[in-house]
Amino acid sequence: MSTKTKRFILPESEIPTAWYNIVADMKNKPLPVLNPGTKQPLKAEDWYPLFAKDLADQEMNQTDRFIEIPEEVRELYKCYRSTPLVRAYGLEKALDTPAHIYFKNESVSPVGSHKLNSALAQAYYCKKEGTTNITTETGAGQWGAALSYAANAFGLELAVYMVKISYEQKPYRRSIMQTYGAQVIASPSMSTKAGRKILTEHPNYQGSLGTAISEAIELAMQTPNCKYTLGSVLNHVSLHQTIIGLEAEKQMAMAGEYPDIVIACFGGGSNFSGIAYPFLRHKISGEKDTRFIAAEPASCPKLTRGVFQYDFGDEAGYTPLIPMFTLGHDFAPANIHAGGLRYHGAGAIISQLKRDNLIEAVDIMQLDSFKAGILFAQTEGIIPAPESSHAIAATINEALKAKEEGKQKTILFNLSGHGLIDMTAYDAYLSDDLTNYELSDEIIKANTCKLEKLI
Ligand SMILES: *Cc1c(COP(=O)(O)O)cnc(C)c1O
Repeated sequence: MSTKTKRFILPESEIPTAWYNIVADMKNKPLPVLNPGTKQPLKAEDWYPLFAKDLADQEMNQTDRFIEIPEEVRELYKCYRSTPLVRAYGLEKALDTPAHIYFKNESVSPVGSHKLNSALAQAYYCKKEGTTNITTETGAGQWGAALSYAANAFGLELAVYMVKISYEQKPYRRSIMQTYGAQVIASPSMSTKAGRKILTEHPNYQGSLGTAISEAIELAMQTPNCKYTLGSVLNHVSLHQTIIGLEAEKQMAMAGEYPDIVIACFGGGSNFSGIAYPFLRHKISGEKDTRFIAAEPASCPKLTRGVFQYDFGDEAGYTPLIPMFTLGHDFAPANIHAGGLRYHGAGAIISQLKRDNLIEAVDIMQLDSFKAGILFAQTEGIIPAPESSHAIAATINEALKAKEEGKQKTILFNLSGHGLIDMTAYDAYLSDDLTNYELSDEIIKANTCKLEKLI
């Protein structure tokens, strides 16, 4: 009988009490976010109409390496944290690899993904300053579900614009949000100017995160005592997610290992940032030479094939200009089932880290992601979210490379969520109804060449 430890859990007293702000350690700071009208760098005050003040201040904070997690948020974290660090012995065996594979299991949160880590923090800061209503958008429904849970926990009214294709493909995520008491609207909708405009031009438009963001911002600006919240891309969201990597660092130490490679799937970058930044600080300081790999869908490859430019975070152009790797704010990604990865850009911090070659990115084909997800389900027992399967596919590639090279590598990946509410996607794959999407250079160029004139 083997007595090898499989799961590593931290006692409550060891759960980190502060988030890690990587910007304080970055030698090259991200370029400033700009006001689209004046082209001047934004100040924290410029965000106040849209976001809770504390969140706006976190967004702009370049000096504090650690930011304390409020007591109220830590109490709610205790409902599911620490999340387990798991050694994937089953997957290692199936791959016959010398690599040691670990995953951080964020799927154990009550809503099934990492998104709750930031949702709780954002709802807390909104409540603290007296906000009564919040709005947001959601792609696959994971962020909306997390924020619904958090809004309910802090007694806030929430309106969620859900990308239409997901609203139809994932009705149970909508039910989850409604169960927690949120109002859910399919986007594009006729309830906002941005929605009406796109529906008039493209009546059959299936929606995108960019459009849903425009609608949620518009509603927040028009509703008294209302703030907007975002589930990814921005610095403060990544900050909250660092609880993942800070825990994982302690748990890897319990396992007596340190990762050679850290991998996460990449939509707007929040779960990647969350697991990567705490380890990345030891690379910036020169102590470690870990590789960091962001796994994107081949149909939405902003980090590998996008351009680095100032661009809007949303379709309609309501947000400030963000220095980002982008496919263009009106890029319409293919209707892949990993809805959470269908976003046109990467955040300002990630984009700078990529320019500085501190992180890498790979593109994963849809069919390869499902194949990897199914192997993971059959070897580790957890059905992964289609988004997370991109990280699994990238992990398998690295583990097989290690086997080829005959090298022992320690690989850590983030299991950002489970796929139990994504079974229509698995059905489609299992009945051979899914395809890969190739994206031509011409399409990318047609979308990104318009960006130059923004600055
Ligand atoms: C939202 C989501 C993602 C993608 O968003 P990031 O901000 O890039 O992390 C990945 N996995 C799951 C399970 C999600 O819900």
